[in-house]
Amino acid sequence: MIPITKVEIAPETEALVLNVLRSGQLAQGAVVAELETLFAKVHEVNHAVAVNNGTTALVLAMQALGIRAGDEVITTPFTFVATLNAILEAGATAVFADIGDDYNIDPRMVAPLVNERTKAIMPVHLYGYMADMGALQQIATEHRLHIVEDAAQAVGADYHGTKAGGTGTGCFSMYATKNISTGEGGMVTTNSDELDDQLRLLRNQGMRARYQYEAAGHNYRLTNLAAAVGIPQIGRISEINAARQTNAAALRAGLADIDGILLPAETKEGQTHVYHQFTIRVLPGGKLSRDEFVDTLIEEGVGCGVYYPKVVFDYDCYRDDKRVKPAEVPKATTIASEVVSLPVHPFLTEQELETICSTVKKVLS
Ligand SMILES: *Cc1c(COP(=O)(O)O)cnc(C)c1O
Repeated sequence: MIPITKVEIAPETEALVLNVLRSGQLAQGAVVAELETLFAKVHEVNHAVAVNNGTTALVLAMQALGIRAGDEVITTPFTFVATLNAILEAGATAVFADIGDDYNIDPRMVAPLVNERTKAIMPVHLYGYMADMGALQQIATEHRLHIVEDAAQAVGADYHGTKAGGTGTGCFSMYATKNISTGEGGMVTTNSDELDDQLRLLRNQGMRARYQYEAAGHNYRLTNLAAAVGIPQIGRISEINAARQTNAAALRAGLADIDGILLPAETKEGQTHVYHQFTIRVLPGGKLSRDEFVDTLIEEGVGCGVYYPKVVFDYDCYRDDKRVKPAEVPKATTIASEVVSLPVHPFLTEQELETICSTVKKVLS
């Protein structure tokens, strides 16, 4: 079986983790601070604030920006559920703008949704490809909105010289299968000193000095133990992403002339795709339905996954929630019924890449 993701922790990690164990300082401390410094440098931002996962990164960002109950956040309907859950956790209302062929929020769909309650736009850089930040920034500036980037899948991605997390407040995940992994972990990036201060305050119970509380905060801290796992990876992030890009190029070439599928949209000039996922569309009317295609591919030994099978608000648990505003999103609905992600992780061999392509061809012809 060729797995859809593979986690291999570099041997040099072991000594770093052992050092933390022997230091006795397992919780947030100097190693977390070191990871933050490296993370900020890679994303060319002034500050990176480590947290315990990507979902809390989103919640923390919104709270630090003062987003609260009654405020509306415009986001994409085609995302992992954490995007929506974080908006609800912050007490805000989620409003959805349809997506484009790049699988990301379509800025043209955002502007008509803005009203006096709108406080932020939350694009998701899905699969590692950044949303159209130039157009979104224009809307945000015009209407004085915050941008909170769900960059969970986009560590190291670039949009015309600005890294993911560098336009608005950036929220990253370091979950086990993300491009950088600390098992569980997250990061918030900002260029604002003031916001950095708020993020650090709210991460740690709203506590400025010991038992001096300035706000009702949280415990969203990352551990030194987890940070030690991330340090060698952030150091090699361009290598890790380059391996994914090379694999994506091989998949593009190998799948180019197969009928009934659409490859991911070509990367636009000035934008890098860090291929957290390589996601094709299986068009209706072909030999196999999307779900049959997935089952057959797995039977043939090629791991694959559907990210995500439905638009994010289309579940019973959100049906009666007034803070979840369902919307007509025909593009996202169609795309959710067609997507399949193929293995693109950095540990694929040339032989495995060939097998993936030939198997896709075989099952569809
Ligand atoms: C992984 C992910 C998150 C949440 O990150 P966790 O670390 O799992 O909490 C949020 N948004 C998107 C798009 C993700 O892929």
